[in-house]
Amino acid sequence: MTATNPVDVLQALIRCPSVTPAEGGALDVLEGLLSPLGFRVDRMLAKDEGTPDIENLYARAGSDGPHLMFAGHSDVVPVGAETDWSAGPFSGDVRDGMLYGRGAVDMKGGIACFIAAYARLVEQGKVPKGSVSLLITGDEEGPAVNGTVKLLEWAAERGERWDACLVGEPTNPDTLGDMIKIGRRGSVSGTVTVKGVQGHAAYPHLADNPVRGALSLAKSLMFPAFDTGTENFQPSNLEVTTIDVGNAATNVIPASARFKFNIRFNDVWTADSVNAEIIRRLDAAAVDPELRPDRAAIGYDITWSERPSHVFLTRNNALIASLSGAIETVTGKTPKLSTTGGTSDARFIKDYCPVVEFGLVGQTMHMVDERVAVADLETLTVIYQTFIEQWFAHADA
Ligand SMILES: [Zn+2]
Repeated sequence: MTATNPVDVLQALIRCPSVTPAEGGALDVLEGLLSPLGFRVDRMLAKDEGTPDIENLYARAGSDGPHLMFAGHSDVVPVGAETDWSAGPFSGDVRDGMLYGRGAVDMKGGIACFIAAYARLVEQGKVPKGSVSLLITGDEEGPAVNGTVKLLEWAAERGERWDACLVGEPTNPDTLGDMIKIGRRGSVSGTVTVKGVQGHAAYPHLADNPVRGALSLAKSLMFPAFDTGTENFQPSNLEVTTIDVGNAATNVIPASARFKFNIRFNDVWTADSVNAEIIRRLDAAAVDPELRPDRAAIGYDITWSERPSHVFLTRNNALIASLSGAIETVTGKTPKLSTTGGTSDARFIKDYCPVVEFGLVGQTMHMVDERVAVADLETLTVIYQTFIEQWFAHADA
């Protein structure tokens, strides 16, 4: 295997079946590649009650600043039915210019290109003055409890400080160079339970139908819109994702009803202020007479699911300019600076240093026959190499 060749590196990584939480040999491959390139490699095992133990990797070359971090994950999502794949999901086969395998774009491909880029700098005698580190978690596609959060804490406790971070997740919708992610929306989920009074459907005045209350409350969260969007973000959006009553009888008014929702919110809000707005809307709708004339206020409970994801926007111009400039130099395209899509581990890294995301084309991620164009691997390697050189040139100035 040649570290300067992203195809070689990616094939070696894909052949490690590292479906979360399995390490699958992927970190061994990384350690074997990074040590000869001058990286000090640490493996960090993270444990938490009720979740599987996860192996993570942190590698650093250099000891002085400026310090650039590349972040990614070596775990992959399950392959589904292997027989649906046209080649083995862990084969790394190349056919008609495409390299196949789970993780090809999400995101072993991004890791392979970054390592190849750094290996070329070493080979060309252009090792940056400063430090480059790789923060690779094995728990991005799983519960994300024993991954990036703990690895960052562990490294920070050992005195690691970073000036900027590039996350190598697939960010391009159609072609390489389309899009950089410079922030992400926040995300909050919850469950609302509406209490009613059970009774006969023919005698509704003796009962209190919680379905009426649930519909009023759910509507209040979906309308009106939370905002109209901001300079860098699309409008916040709340979706009611399920309404459950579980009532099998048509002649019975049920005793309770509940619904779940998820909101993706922009930088008009914080997780706290969006929660407060949700409560304000529910309280207002609880006394709305439209579906429940002449009734007392709806009784409801709300529970918030998991930890909220906080919204963030990176404003570090040198970081964005280095990456954008590298993409323009190599592809001739001006990438869109976007905050669309779901959450990523960048939401944790942003607490330590400015972070941007750029990787491969995301079209086949998590799908059967996940694949990447061999030509894209070469192009991304050149982009990453150019980015590293430009970022250190900026940081030096
Ligand atoms: Zn990913």
